[in-house]
Amino acid sequence: MLKWLGTALVLITVISIQACAPKSQEDCGFVQNVYGERISWKSDVPVTMYIHAQVPDSMIPAILKAADTWEKTAGRKLFNIVTSTRYTGPINPHKDSVNVIYLMSSWEDNRASEQGRTSVYWIGDQIKEADIRLNAADFGFYWNGQTLTRAAKADRQGSAPVNIEALVLHEMGHVLGLKHKDGAGSVMATYLASGDDRVNLAGADQTALQCEY
Ligand SMILES: [Zn+2]
Repeated sequence: MLKWLGTALVLITVISIQACAPKSQEDCGFVQNVYGERISWKSDVPVTMYIHAQVPDSMIPAILKAADTWEKTAGRKLFNIVTSTRYTGPINPHKDSVNVIYLMSSWEDNRASEQGRTSVYWIGDQIKEADIRLNAADFGFYWNGQTLTRAAKADRQGSAPVNIEALVLHEMGHVLGLKHKDGAGSVMATYLASGDDRVNLAGADQTALQCEY
């Protein structure tokens, strides 16, 4: 009897999954879930992002500018970057329902070439949280011709710095759900060279954004 019940339940589960299976979509530059649906915030409410207290004040205008660049293309507010207060929790990006931009003074040795990383958490096709890490261990940052920080690691302090606006622009693309796109001058290219002032969206980025925003 128990065995029969188990079989029946399994069958019901399978049927319900098939009945609800969503339709696969074109990726349009976005990360897709296991069903092939594009993931994004699916909301008109701007994404509230906090800035960790470790991020120097001098980086805030660059962060706001990067958000503004995406918003100009979308024609609406996408981000609510909180500047009235700072996030003061531990420098430990994790799933906590708070979107935070972290400046990391330590970074995995085997990923030292990575300038930044964005963790995106989603349920179904809807993003629930995104955290940005900026690698201040291996890289120094500049903006508008001014050096803002030098690499925390002594052996990397003399290396060429990275445009913080260009880096945040790329990571914010991930926050919105975009994946890497190499070529076409995209700001979502996998690599950002030191000294590259890539602060304008390419046509490909604008087209991609409009699929979801
Ligand atoms: Zn990336």
